[in-house]
Amino acid sequence: MKNLVLLGGGYGNMRVMQKLLPNTLPSEYNITLIDRIPFHGLKTEFYALAAGTESDKDVRVDFPKDARLNTVFGEITSIDLENQLISVGDSKVDYDELIIGLGCEDKYHNVPGAKEHTFSIQTMTQARKTYQAIADLPSGSTVGIVGAGLSGIELASELRESRKDLNIKLFDRGERILPAFPEKLSNYVKKWFDKHQVEVIPNSNVVKVEPGVLYNNEDSHQVDICVWTAGIQPVEIVRNLPVEFGEGNRVKINQYHQLPQYPNVYVVGDCASLPHAPSAQLAEVQAEQIVEVLTNVWQGKVLPEKMPELKLQGFLGSLGEKEGFAYLMDRTVTGRLARLLKSGVLWLYKFHNG
Ligand SMILES: Cc1cc2nc3c(=O)[nH]c(=O)nc-3n(C[C@H](O)[C@H](O)[C@H](O)COP(=O)(O)OP(=O)(O)OC[C@H]3O[C@@H](n4cnc5c(N)ncnc54)[C@H](O)[C@@H]3O)c2cc1C
Repeated sequence: MKNLVLLGGGYGNMRVMQKLLPNTLPSEYNITLIDRIPFHGLKTEFYALAAGTESDKDVRVDFPKDARLNTVFGEITSIDLENQLISVGDSKVDYDELIIGLGCEDKYHNVPGAKEHTFSIQTMTQARKTYQAIADLPSGSTVGIVGAGLSGIELASELRESRKDLNIKLFDRGERILPAFPEKLSNYVKKWFDKHQVEVIPNSNVVKVEPGVLYNNEDSHQVDICVWTAGIQPVEIVRNLPVEFGEGNRVKINQYHQLPQYPNVYVVGDCASLPHAPSAQLAEVQAEQIVEVLTNVWQGKVLPEKMPELKLQGFLGSLGEKEGFAYLMDRTVTGRLARLLKSGVLWLYKFHNG
């Protein structure tokens, strides 16, 4: 039997399994999925886990069950592209084809103390630790959130609803929140924060973090806990691969999503250098193209001269339980409708993934 090995059971590889199992995978193939956790973590909801508004079991779904799917749960410690071998602790797994979908981790931009003295929501384990630390805070404590991208905004708003007794400071690098999107959207989010007493600090440049103190430009802020949501990069094991990297240390791939020098190796999701900002949606759209390429390769077909563009629908964000914002097909949607859309998308995702 041949082995298609999937590294990471995130959004990208979940879509790969959904498309290949049970009928599309050739009969001479098995799939081996390797992940450190025994279920698919819904990373897009980790802010709610950290804020304490969703429980552990709300932010995960089971991996598919199929006679041709083997699972290996453990820490991947090396990827040997020359010998086609993956190390998971003391065990080795060999592959015929490989899809690397190991996601990303925080990027600290060399800010002294940031790695040591901030909490994270990039993995389930880290989000749980963040939850624990926040849950233990006495009333009147201050939480600093560095980075007002989607995850920082969602964490700040969810935390506000979960803990009305805390002070929340959101450090935003830009002049206005989400500067790449229409002003109407930024104003809506800012107004929500003003109404709910979340202090947004624009034009921030955090230069140092010490226990209990965050240094921003010339100012220092007393914070009891600081959560870092100010940048991401592919996980270290991928950054150490002997391959070419594009912007943000993402792996350069050809139009078929393969490593140019190892065409049996594909890279999906946050690890891959793609023409859009990393997102779960992008990982899924890309995964569908990877399945198309793999199917053509397995059937001995010539690959299309040019692959179609990866098309995205837009994005959805929440502001607590009842409000939200979206940018869909070049249109801004705010309020209850946007929140319902986001909940609906999550519901459908869970439904389609068992
Ligand atoms: C708070 C938050 C909110 C977000 N909201 C949205 C949103 O609304 N919409 C959207 O489109 N995107 C959103 N994103 C981004 C989205 O979550 C990521 O882009 C997406 O998860 C990337 O998918 P992936 O398949 O590349 O990897 P991931 O989904 O990150 O999966 C990677 C997998 O690899 C495993 N892994 C990593 N390293 C190892 C190792 N060494 N050994 C074993 N296993 C390993 C992990 O356990 C994980 O299961 C959000 C992100 C965050 C943090």
